[in-house]
Amino acid sequence: MKHLMIILVFSICNSCAIAQKVEIQYMANEGIKISSKDREVFIDAFFDNEFEAFDFLSVDTLKQIINQGKALRHSISLATHLHGDHFNPALTGEYLLLNPKSSFIAPQETISNFEKRFSGFAEVTERVKPVNIELHQQVALHLDWVKITIIRLAHMGDSPWKEAENLAYLVELQGKKVLHVGDALLDEENLKALGVSKLNIDAVVLPLGQMMTKDQKELINEHIRSKQILAAHIPIKYYDQAQSLLAELGYKNTLVLNKPLKTYLLD
Ligand SMILES: [Zn+2]
Repeated sequence: MKHLMIILVFSICNSCAIAQKVEIQYMANEGIKISSKDREVFIDAFFDNEFEAFDFLSVDTLKQIINQGKALRHSISLATHLHGDHFNPALTGEYLLLNPKSSFIAPQETISNFEKRFSGFAEVTERVKPVNIELHQQVALHLDWVKITIIRLAHMGDSPWKEAENLAYLVELQGKKVLHVGDALLDEENLKALGVSKLNIDAVVLPLGQMMTKDQKELINEHIRSKQILAAHIPIKYYDQAQSLLAELGYKNTLVLNKPLKTYLLD
């Protein structure tokens, strides 16, 4: 098993420091775990089989992952929005109940949905933090082990999907910056509001569906300066072609998240 774990660690860089390494593990769909030593940050990790088109992890696998984290000192889970391919109330509740040191951050709308649908909400409510900000506003959260900047961005697509309160998270852990935009519409207005064009980000997780035109590629290049782009939220039927489609569009330093549980080491 140990041998297998080592093989699964795939390096994003050529010279990866051993000290205080930060890893990103792909969960499924747009879910990731960012971790370092005794710290872990989940984003959109706890959801179930809601839409046939997208990948998901089994409840047993998710419980195993939650249990591994129980030995850690710090664990936090973030949800970008309430759609069922990003968030599930029962699984999020399970995470909070199984790990008494953990906490959960999400838009107010997602938390209201969580409260309505999870019967054990009263038991975890003190560790649940709703975010209530207007479109394009941002707020920062400084904990002693992680800094999280939260920016509200419009959700992609048509009604009713686009009405969802969607948050982007910029997570700074052990000197590494990882940005996750959820299901943000990647137009100029949203990208400007994101306000990260002058930051050197180590990795950004973007939904593939918002990357597929030349115009979107130019906008992404202009507004997000990231060492790596991790393309996620990929319909399973596009898992095999996604990398070449992005290469045809001229993307550089882009990896596709198409192998659930694969781990990437940040330089
Ligand atoms: Zn969505």
